[in-house]
Amino acid sequence: MPDIKDVFTLYTQLSPQEQKKLYSMISYQLPIDNDFEQFVKDERFTSGFVCPHCGCIGHISRNGHIYKTDKDGNKTIDKQRYVCKDCGKSFTVLSNSVASGTRKNLSIWESFTKCMLNGFSVRKSANICGIHRNTAFAWRHKLLDALQQPAEKTRLDGIIEADETFFRVSYKGNHKRSSFKIPREARKRGGLAHKRGLSKEQVCVPCAIDRKGHSYGKIASLGRIATKNLHAVYDGKICSESTLCTDKMNAYVRFAKSKNIQLIQLKSGKEKKGIYNIQRINNYHTKLKKFMDKFNGVATKYLNNYLVWHTWFDLKGHTQLEKADLLLAKAMTSILSFHFRQLSMRPSIPLNI
Ligand SMILES: [Zn+2]
Repeated sequence: MPDIKDVFTLYTQLSPQEQKKLYSMISYQLPIDNDFEQFVKDERFTSGFVCPHCGCIGHISRNGHIYKTDKDGNKTIDKQRYVCKDCGKSFTVLSNSVASGTRKNLSIWESFTKCMLNGFSVRKSANICGIHRNTAFAWRHKLLDALQQPAEKTRLDGIIEADETFFRVSYKGNHKRSSFKIPREARKRGGLAHKRGLSKEQVCVPCAIDRKGHSYGKIASLGRIATKNLHAVYDGKICSESTLCTDKMNAYVRFAKSKNIQLIQLKSGKEKKGIYNIQRINNYHTKLKKFMDKFNGVATKYLNNYLVWHTWFDLKGHTQLEKADLLLAKAMTSILSFHFRQLSMRPSIPLNI
């Protein structure tokens, strides 16, 4: 049995590239606490029990157990059951959580989270975690659906740079056997939009980033954006004392006026007015496009989930392992009713107005 010092000596003899590869390999094999229920309990109910059905806090009592039967017919306690005194519904620690209905243990979820933070494909993640591709696809969207809730609490403050980016509408993932009819002729992946310039074949995604690095972006409209779309995306997200830096688009003038926030408009990405510019948001869009390119055309119905994914991918100030823990903890605290069969039934273009 080699001594840990011997192993470390061997490690130091590797090239920096090999060391990096080894680190990545080891991070998927770390022994961790496998008590899934305890993990979820710790993350979800830190400030008292919350009913996953009605959201009330504290009006909860224990309500017997759920039993499981092994292959010899022996009954053992599987989970503690609780009942909400407000809505009368019963639940377990895992009810309406990302982990609800899953039979995989926590270490596999941890590995899967690391795969996501590396931006791996469904196939690669499934291979690493030893799960089916359909499971990997469902987990990806379970986690991202759950992360939409903390993302909605994003508050941008101080100097905020905002701009729009466009993604071609993709009807990928709308089942061929369903009643869905593609509203235009199908085109090859990677093909150009039929119309030049801004058209209804592109979804507009306004994105904003503040100087602390907090960012937010969401699908707003088909084609060019209007003031009402900016309200739909940013209302409640921009603090009142902020300064908004944008390009010369008129929609922002009306938006900033109605919000009573200062607006600095610049001619181009290169222009600067003192401390104000829109270089951060331009860089943000460059990174976002690069991230999206890996997926060979994201289905528009899932685009908002990929925007949240990119926010985590791009998150600074944490190691990959810290990010994985944080991501899983955030996802586990969300109340989520996720049905795999309904996943592909989402609107093909999710517009909120
Ligand atoms: Zn309740």
